[in-house]
Amino acid sequence: MTDAHIDRAIVLDFTELRCLDRRCRTLLPGDAEICDECGGTNLGPLAAFPAALSTTLEDRPVVFALEATRPAIVGRSVPGGEPPDVDLARFPGAAAVHRRHAVITLEESAWRIIHNGENPLRVEHAGVPKDVAPNGSALLRSGDRLIVGSVALYFFAVE
Ligand SMILES: [Zn+2]
Repeated sequence: MTDAHIDRAIVLDFTELRCLDRRCRTLLPGDAEICDECGGTNLGPLAAFPAALSTTLEDRPVVFALEATRPAIVGRSVPGGEPPDVDLARFPGAAAVHRRHAVITLEESAWRIIHNGENPLRVEHAGVPKDVAPNGSALLRSGDRLIVGSVALYFFAVE
């Protein structure tokens, strides 16, 4: 298993915008009018969401918004298949990501990640790594770093 390819923390404060293009999802400053990556003008405020995952792709910040009312599937799309909510297919290291690797849910005001795969899932809280066993789960707290297969993401929630 290689180390996570992406390791730059993109700290979210929920004042940003996100590109709504499913294949883009670039994180943009709150006053942006156009996505400087794809040229799209369909942008939405991150403030509409209670939590999000951030990462980078070729040094570009990317964000996946999470909803309170619906579990988010974290995985890897395949051609012709329905893409998961958090689609890691285009990230380096995606070969180690299952189609449905994990699910993130909000349960009784606590965020939790459930491991549905067999390849690694790791949660690092305050720099302390903890491997989540297959079929196991772990609490997520704002600022935690996740390793899904070998893709790294950071979890942030509105406190
Ligand atoms: Zn875009």
